[in-house]
Amino acid sequence: MTTENRSASETPQKAGRPQVDYDAIVIGAGFAGLALIHYLRKAGLSVRVFDRASDIGGTWTWNRYPGAATDSESYYYCLTFSKELLQEWSWTKRYPDWKETHSYMHFVADKCDMWPHIQLNTEVVDAKYLDDSGRWQITTGNGDTFTCKYFISGMGMISEPVIPTIEGMDRFKGPLFHSARWPQEGLDYAGKRVGVIGAGATAVQMVPVLAETAADVTVFQRTPNYILPAMQQPMTPEWEKEIKENYEAIVAKCRNHVFGMAFDSPVGRNAVDTPEEERRRIFEENWTGSFRWVFETFDDLLANPEANRMASEFIIEKMKERVKDPELAELLTPSFDDYPLFAKRPPLDHGYLEAFNRDNVHLVDIKDREPIVRITETGVRTTENHYEFDIIVLATGFRAYTGALEAFPIRGRSGQTLREKWQTVSQCIMGVCVADFPNMFVVTGPQAPFANLPTSIEQNVIWITHCIEKMEREGYDVFKPRREAEEAWTAHTAEIHAQTLMAEGDKVNSWMMGANLEDKPPRVLIYFGGANNYYDLLDQSANEGFPELEFEKFAS
Ligand code: NAP
Repeated sequence: MTTENRSASETPQKAGRPQVDYDAIVIGAGFAGLALIHYLRKAGLSVRVFDRASDIGGTWTWNRYPGAATDSESYYYCLTFSKELLQEWSWTKRYPDWKETHSYMHFVADKCDMWPHIQLNTEVVDAKYLDDSGRWQITTGNGDTFTCKYFISGMGMISEPVIPTIEGMDRFKGPLFHSARWPQEGLDYAGKRVGVIGAGATAVQMVPVLAETAADVTVFQRTPNYILPAMQQPMTPEWEKEIKENYEAIVAKCRNHVFGMAFDSPVGRNAVDTPEEERRRIFEENWTGSFRWVFETFDDLLANPEANRMASEFIIEKMKERVKDPELAELLTPSFDDYPLFAKRPPLDHGYLEAFNRDNVHLVDIKDREPIVRITETGVRTTENHYEFDIIVLATGFRAYTGALEAFPIRGRSGQTLREKWQTVSQCIMGVCVADFPNMFVVTGPQAPFANLPTSIEQNVIWITHCIEKMEREGYDVFKPRREAEEAWTAHTAEIHAQTLMAEGDKVNSWMMGANLEDKPPRVLIYFGGANNYYDLLDQSANEGFPELEFEKFAS
């Protein structure tokens, strides 16, 4: 394969360009950062990627909690720009744990000689657009400043933790941390009493693994989830061979799927039109778990409330079968009357429900029975009990889509920050550009779809690269995202959102609407018009010369 052995500092500045430190500065050395290095370097740009972490990986370097694994199948949770990389890397299982995905990312960075472009342990604390020069000025935590023409966020859509405000959190004597800040060097929890606050996708992955060696694991649950079994499988040589022989088709399948997944859907039948016995047979026969079940049984489960009720009730029945104590089973399962399937993002589990059949795993219902009052020096005080712990994990979720972009000042043309702009509505153009923020791109920003992330990331990066190539080829200094394009996309996204069952997420604190945040009202954060349609729109935009953007040349 062709790797470009050129470091950022070695990349020549093109004649006629005003001097900048780098053509493009990217924040985030996760999948987005790696994809940007590849595509932008190929386009001839100098690229610098800053990351505050001590390693590349993004999500997969921060989320080192026991059980952390992908919920997308390994063989398409990856970058696809190189056929050689796809052929050379071997996955060991259907859902790789964080270590395996992290190793894969190192493999990509090594093979493609990306390290010279990456600066770790460097937190960006300020970014501002300089109207006079059309440049961005980036400041890091130690006070260094850098300029660039293109400023790109690859900070991830689920990366900024939600730290709850629970009285006494600073008093606890043992380790207390958010799940996404699991100590990087590891933490010995064997024989320890562990409290887990939160019962979302993270807790669902973490609890069965903790339970194997911890003395006790206690989960503080507010809202139960619809949990689908992941059905982990080892990668067999036959399966790997089949994947590698068909990679092109797999990549195309992801590109053309509503959630960017290599699923065999749509299937051409609806639950509501299928007789009950037949419907049940199809539900049962496809109960191989994962999100596939939602898409490969019927086409109307997320669109039609009646079909969604059928699916929800089937999942509840399956969940209850796995928990021995009927009272506990009741507590662990949601009800369709409370919220439909996918109003909250359903977790995939690897033995979470069975873990509650063990003597050392406990559930505390903090919604109806005993809310948390405070955290004490030694544990958690609820209205009814005091629970003693050695370790407390806040598995309390993320400020999705906008959190990382609002965590430090990013100032556009008017001096307004993204945080100020997005107080009530998180406007964006296709999740990639923001009006009043010239020459800035976001990878999977607000109002992009929620889909298999590497697929969306690569589609975004391709669009960004085409846009930059146009800028450079035609000698433009600045692109300005058009306000009317932003308004149109925001209205279109809201209109689609209102027609989906996901709109019920505001009833149940769904992060998919930012309804899990105490300091902001819920809003439309996700484009639910289908990732495939969204990728088509990105292609159309690039083919039509980026009508959402206004291109300008400075007078020379
Ligand atoms: P989450 O789904 O938002 O769950 C957060 C949990 O914390 C919920 O149970 C929530 O209760 C609870 N919580 C929040 N604030 C609380 C408070 N003050 N007191 C008590 N409980 C509180 O977060 P997550 O589990 O970290 O998952 C977020 C998303 O990250 C997932 O949906 C997924 O997209 C991604 N993720 C992906 C993977 C993967 O793909 N492998 C793994 C983990 C996470 P309520 O529900 O009542 O608000």
